[in-house]
Amino acid sequence: MRVVVAGSGISGVVAALRARALGNEVVLVSSGKSASSRSLGVVDVLGYLDGEELSSPEEGIKILVEREEEHPYSLLGVERVREALEFFREVTARAGIPFRGSLEENIHIATQFGTVKPTCLAPEKVYAGRVEEWSGKRVVISGEEERNFSPGFVAASLSWLLPKLGLAGPRRIEAKGEGELVLKPLRQLGNGENARALPLLGDGEQVVERLTEHAAEAGVRIVQDKISRAVVEGGELKALVGRQSYAGDAFVLATGDWTGGGLVGMREPLLGLELVRVEGLAVKTPLPEGGHPYSRLGVKVDGNLSPFYRGEKILNVRVAGALLGGYDYCTEKSGWGVAIATGYFAGGVR
Ligand SMILES: Cc1cc2nc3c(=O)[nH]c(=O)nc-3n(C[C@H](O)[C@H](O)[C@H](O)COP(=O)(O)OP(=O)(O)OC[C@H]3O[C@@H](n4cnc5c(N)ncnc54)[C@H](O)[C@@H]3O)c2cc1C
Repeated sequence: MRVVVAGSGISGVVAALRARALGNEVVLVSSGKSASSRSLGVVDVLGYLDGEELSSPEEGIKILVEREEEHPYSLLGVERVREALEFFREVTARAGIPFRGSLEENIHIATQFGTVKPTCLAPEKVYAGRVEEWSGKRVVISGEEERNFSPGFVAASLSWLLPKLGLAGPRRIEAKGEGELVLKPLRQLGNGENARALPLLGDGEQVVERLTEHAAEAGVRIVQDKISRAVVEGGELKALVGRQSYAGDAFVLATGDWTGGGLVGMREPLLGLELVRVEGLAVKTPLPEGGHPYSRLGVKVDGNLSPFYRGEKILNVRVAGALLGGYDYCTEKSGWGVAIATGYFAGGVR
């Protein structure tokens, strides 16, 4: 089959890798930067449910499956999410950026803003520096000042936070002694260095770039182009069109939300796909408790992730990632988890 994937954030790249692994002829078309490249590059699967932190994403997904039928995890079910994460671990390992972690357990990582957040899978060096490893150690924030990183600022912010968690440190010192755990930005960590990694905003870029290179090596055609329209005939999508036309038998739309460009206002601009119904969009409070309803807006799909076009399902199209509606990755902390799981499933055509 000829598979056209629109969008090269994490959902599109995973969709392209899966479609290629199944023997399809795959083209990955993207207009540029993605939310994925601006992220920390760790895989949040499900950090919170109803405002409560989850120790196990797997248990949280099982609850969602029971009660939220439009949530992307409910459409897939827990076993498909597990399979997708396994695939992600395999391809990242092959691409030279192995991830650690499991669906059964959330870990905690420090951010450059002095907060600690739950996540599920992380690059090995980030995983090794998880907060769970800090107990009894003095944490040292190290590394060179750069546009996006100030060791003094991170140390000061965490110094305020950590005593509340019953933990020592952190502070900035260069001498490294016994009982110290040194955290340094991932991209400043040299090979063989004994420090652990502190993820920074923008670290997602390296993951996406390496996976895109890996996809190209596997035979995916990578094209930079902005899709501006779609050709639909007889209820099927025939081609996506930018500077060139990309004809295919199956299509994956992985164009993201407002950050990626897949949503414009309250519209999916390429096909005008139906969006999920969300109550309370008029709420004026910028950050109401439980998240803004606007964050749940996105494309409505069936159990195969096929969207609705002019009232009918369009069966040779699947939607993946942040373009999907029915979930709020900001409050749930489920961004890359949903993107990887739905990307994997959407790319599963042959
Ligand atoms: C600041 C920030 C930090 C975050 N950190 C994390 C984190 O650490 N962990 C986590 O799990 N989640 C995180 N998230 C959420 C996560 O980044 C997103 O949920 C996820 O990256 C969405 O991936 P995606 O592939 O669906 O969309 P995107 O990554 O947005 O990709 C969309 C792609 O579509 C392309 N595109 C759009 N329109 C067109 C068009 N017309 N033609 C061609 N191409 C097009 C774009 O160029 C882009 O390549 C963060 C979000 C933000 C905003």
